[in-house]
Amino acid sequence: MWTTERCSGYSPVRCEVCLPLRRKILDVARLFHRLDRDVQRFEDRSGVRCVAGCFRCCLKADIRCSVLECLPLAHFLLQTGAWPLVLHDIEARERHGDGRCVLLSETPSEGEAGCCRAYAWRPLICRLFGRSVAVNRRGEAVPFACASIKQTWSEAFTRSRGGAPVMRRYTLQLFAVDPATVLASLPINDALSEAIEGLLLYNRYRRLRLGR
Ligand code: SF4
Ligand code: SF4
Repeated sequence: MWTTERCSGYSPVRCEVCLPLRRKILDVARLFHRLDRDVQRFEDRSGVRCVAGCFRCCLKADIRCSVLECLPLAHFLLQTGAWPLVLHDIEARERHGDGRCVLLSETPSEGEAGCCRAYAWRPLICRLFGRSVAVNRRGEAVPFACASIKQTWSEAFTRSRGGAPVMRRYTLQLFAVDPATVLASLPINDALSEAIEGLLLYNRYRRLRLGR
C-alpha cells in the first residue's frame, strides 16, 4: 500500500523531469484536485457515494485511459522508488493474460481507500466513474456509474444532476493540457507503463545533458 490520501495539489519535490513535462504533471494534478473538490461537493449535496468497501469496477479487465492522466501517478512511483515493482507486476499480468489494473490490491489492509494502492494518484477515468454524468446525444445527463450506484442512487442523481460533475468538462481540460496524448486511449496498465518509461527516458536525457 502506498497512499490513500486524496490528491491535494502537487509538490514536485526532488523533481528531476524537465520543465515542460513537469508542467504537464502539475496541470494534470491540479485538474485532479479541482475534480476531487467538485466530487466532494456533489457527494455532500446528493448523498451519492460508492458502496462501502466496494471495488468491483477496479476488477474489470478492460479499463482504458490516456498516458497523460497516468503522469502524476508515474511520477509518484518514480519518487517513491516503487516503479520497478510496478513494471514487473505489469509484465507478470501480461504474461498471464490478466488485463486487470496493476494497482489493484486484492487484500486491502485497514484504512485503505477501496483497493487502490495509489488512490491519491489514480487516473482521471477512476476519479470520474461513479461520481459524474455523461451527456448523451439528446443532451441528457446520464450517470457514468456502475449498475449498483445507478440503482441505489438513481433518485439522488436525478435530484442533483445539475450539480454533478460533468465528464466532458474534465476530459476537455485534460485535452487542453496535451491534445495528442489524450486522444490515444490504452489499456490502463499499458498507459501507466508508457508514462513510467517516458519519465525514465526524460530523467536519463536530463542526466546526460547535465553530464551526471
Ligand atoms: S463505482 Fe460502483 S463498482 Fe465502483 S467502487 Fe463505486 S460502487 Fe463499487
Ligand atoms: S488505478 Fe486504482 S482506482 Fe483505478 S482501476 Fe486501478 S486500482 Fe482501481
